[in-house]
Amino acid sequence: MVDFSNFNSLVDVALYFDTVEKCKETIAQARWKDGNIVCPYCGQPHCHRRRDGRYVCKNCNHNFSEMVGTIFENTKVSLVKWFMAMYLISSHKKGISSHQLHRDLHITQKTAWYMLQKIRSLYSQDDSIALEGEVECDEMYLGGRSKNKHKNKRVKHTQGKSLLTKEAIFGMAERTGRTAAFHVKDTKAETLRTYISQFVADNACIFTDESKCYYGLKEHGFNHQFVNHSAGEFANKEVTTNSIEGFWAHFKRMVFGTYHFVSSKYLQRYIDEAVYRWNTRKFEEQDRFTYMFEMALSVFDYHQVKMDFDNSEKISIFAVAELKGAP
Ligand SMILES: [Zn+2]
Repeated sequence: MVDFSNFNSLVDVALYFDTVEKCKETIAQARWKDGNIVCPYCGQPHCHRRRDGRYVCKNCNHNFSEMVGTIFENTKVSLVKWFMAMYLISSHKKGISSHQLHRDLHITQKTAWYMLQKIRSLYSQDDSIALEGEVECDEMYLGGRSKNKHKNKRVKHTQGKSLLTKEAIFGMAERTGRTAAFHVKDTKAETLRTYISQFVADNACIFTDESKCYYGLKEHGFNHQFVNHSAGEFANKEVTTNSIEGFWAHFKRMVFGTYHFVSSKYLQRYIDEAVYRWNTRKFEEQDRFTYMFEMALSVFDYHQVKMDFDNSEKISIFAVAELKGAP
C-alpha cells in the first residue's frame, strides 16, 4: 500500500502516479487491503482478476472494476488527473475553484466543476459523533443586502434577519474543535432545536447569543447559557461565542476568497466542504490527502451529483454576506 504521507508536493504526486494502471493498482490495494477481492454486488470474497484487468465474481458472475461505487466510477477523466485534483483540493486550505482546477489540469471548467461537486459530496456531515462539552450555537445570514442593489431590484423589509433575499446557516461548534453547520429553512426556535437535538450531546453545555431563536432551550431540557454581547461580556472567558465566530470567518474567506459566487441550491455542499476543512485544519497536508483518498474509496451514492451543469448557473447567487454581530 502506498504511503501517502510521502507526497509533499504536486510534483511528487505527478511523478509517482504517472499511469492510469498505477492509480488503479493503488485503488485496488486500498480497497482490498488483504488482497482478498470482495464482490461489490453480492459480497462474495475471493473474486478473480481477469486478463483484461477487470474482476469477476464466481458467485453472481458480475464483472467489475476497482472503481465501482467510488467517485471514480464511470469517469471519463484520467485517474492521473483525478489524483492530482485530489491533491490540489486537499492542499488548498481555502478550497479551489472550478476555474482554477480547469487551468491547472487542462480540463474544461465544466469537468472541473463536476469533479469538485463529486468530491464535495464526500464531505456530507452526519450525526454519528455528537458534539460534546461546551458547544457554541449561532446563525449566519448569507445573501444580497438590498440597499446595495439597483432600485428596481430592491426588495422591501430585507434588513437584518429577513430571509426574503437571504439564506440562513446554523452552526454548532465545540470549544475544543469540531463544528457542524447546515443551510436551514428558517431560524425559528423550533427548527434550530431539532438540529441541536440531533448533533449535540445531551449533556453538552450550549452557549448562544441572546437572540429569540434560542429561547426555550432550558425548558426543553438543554443545559443552556446566554452570552450577552451588548453588555461587553466578550471578555468573559467562560461565556463567549469565539469558536463559532472563527468558523464563520473561515467560511466567509472560502466563499468570498475562492468561490465568489455560491448558488443557494448547492449551498449545503459548500458548507460541508468548509466544515470538513475546519475540522481537519490541524491535520498535516499529507494526512489530509490520505484522508481524502480514503473517503473517495468509501462506497457512496453520487446520483445526486449528476445534475445539469447549465441549470446550476441560472440559480440565484449571493454577492454579499452579512454576518450577524460582525463589525
Ligand atoms: Zn458477486
